[in-house]
Amino acid sequence: MKHAIIVGTGAGGATAAKELQGKFEVTVLEAGGEFRPFDGNLTFLERARSTGLLFDEREIRFLFPAMKVQKATGGMVLVKGIASGGTTTLATGNALRVDSDLKAVGIHLDAEFEELHREIAITTAHQKIWRSSTRRLFEICLELGLSPQVTPKMVDYTKCKRCGRCVLGCPEGAKWDSRRFLEIALQHDARVEYNCRVQKVLISKSEAVGVEVRQGWKRKTIPADLVILAAGGFGTPVILQHSGIATEPRLFVDPVLCVAAEWKHAYQNKEVLMPFVVQRDHFMISPYFDQLSFFFNGEWRIPAENIVSLMVKLADENTGRVNGSIEKNLTQLDNDRLAEGVELCSKILERFGVARQDMFLGTVNAGHPGGMLPLGAAEAETLHSNRLPENLYVADATLFPCSLGNPPILTIMAMAKRISKQCIKKFAVTH
Ligand SMILES: Cc1cc2nc3c(=O)[nH]c(=O)nc-3n(C[C@H](O)[C@H](O)[C@H](O)COP(=O)(O)OP(=O)(O)OC[C@H]3O[C@@H](n4cnc5c(N)ncnc54)[C@H](O)[C@@H]3O)c2cc1C
Ligand code: SF4
Repeated sequence: MKHAIIVGTGAGGATAAKELQGKFEVTVLEAGGEFRPFDGNLTFLERARSTGLLFDEREIRFLFPAMKVQKATGGMVLVKGIASGGTTTLATGNALRVDSDLKAVGIHLDAEFEELHREIAITTAHQKIWRSSTRRLFEICLELGLSPQVTPKMVDYTKCKRCGRCVLGCPEGAKWDSRRFLEIALQHDARVEYNCRVQKVLISKSEAVGVEVRQGWKRKTIPADLVILAAGGFGTPVILQHSGIATEPRLFVDPVLCVAAEWKHAYQNKEVLMPFVVQRDHFMISPYFDQLSFFFNGEWRIPAENIVSLMVKLADENTGRVNGSIEKNLTQLDNDRLAEGVELCSKILERFGVARQDMFLGTVNAGHPGGMLPLGAAEAETLHSNRLPENLYVADATLFPCSLGNPPILTIMAMAKRISKQCIKKFAVTH
């Protein structure tokens, strides 16, 4: 059997591992360790806010090693998961299909989305358990003609305790994350190496022949017949650049900005996160208790249960780059669109009963990176960038032509499935 190396265990990597096991000898390489949800006491941390000890979002790593926060050169807070399951373990369980921009370049993934719907239980059943503040916000959006949609979720609501800790990892095993696909792959003879950071792909005579990795202080090379990079929108471009493959300065990140206010017993901190979405051109709006703003933004120094908050998630222009550091600034157009979103959130909160002068903003943060090796129409059939050797693939949001401005896990997995099918057709030796 040929040997396939898959880099990363997030949405793209775990999907590829599950699809390729049995057809290849699969080795998955993951820079982080095995994921553990944050098990600290949030009430204790809430008290610690007033001590001034929590002043920089990057400190989160000391409390919760699976979450890495970086800052872009312009100061934007960027979040990613760095353990088994990648960033999917930090997700709020949203399962949206957002492929209109892929269809526009000729990429049609209907079969793959159907497969995912068979494999993962996706539900809107949470609407029955919403708190009164969420129900009222939903009604207001209906009254304003904003067509709110209940968010499809990859969460088992018979197990969910509505603890509101999704972004810190689910302690109940209620939320689906990509470790489930990884486990299937491992049960079928795939192997995984943790704390194994891929530095570059080794290329000889226009062919990928393996990868160079760092494990602690040790460096080693691992030979392979096929390499699939799914190290995420921040990680994959670095590996490509180290391997001598040019990327494009077209990074998007989907920045999030919350508009919040004090509201007694809103209990959004103990609610389904992002229970419904309002879609607009270039941004979406959803109720969201933002833990990063709550712990690190001085404006949010009120008890968690008394905060009502709406997020604007922006489909930002693809104008940044990962290049040693991460360069990402909002453009004038991004700021204008963000302001439009903030205005709409303010209108909703006004109708909810909050005075404008009592509203405050969160910290701009982002965690949906991609775009630095975008696919064009010429690559729609193969999903293989013509900059790569024939047996080297990318299977994450690095391939997206532009920001989805929406949760991307389902769409990344659909694409990783299609890429896996191509690899099986092209490279697997079947007996
Ligand atoms: C707080 C938060 C909530 C979110 N909620 C949702 C949601 O509800 N629904 C949704 O659809 N999306 C959500 N997202 C976005 C989503 O989680 C990510 O876009 C998605 O997981 C990206 O998948 P990926 O496979 O590209 O990368 P990731 O899931 O980030 O996985 C990449 C993996 O590669 C590993 N890696 C990186 N570099 C290397 C290297 N050099 N060598 C080896 N391994 C490496 C990383 O450790 C990581 O495990 C959320 C994001 C955040 C930050
Ligand atoms: S709210 Fe539900 S899905 Fe989210 S972490 Fe808590 S138990 Fe898990």
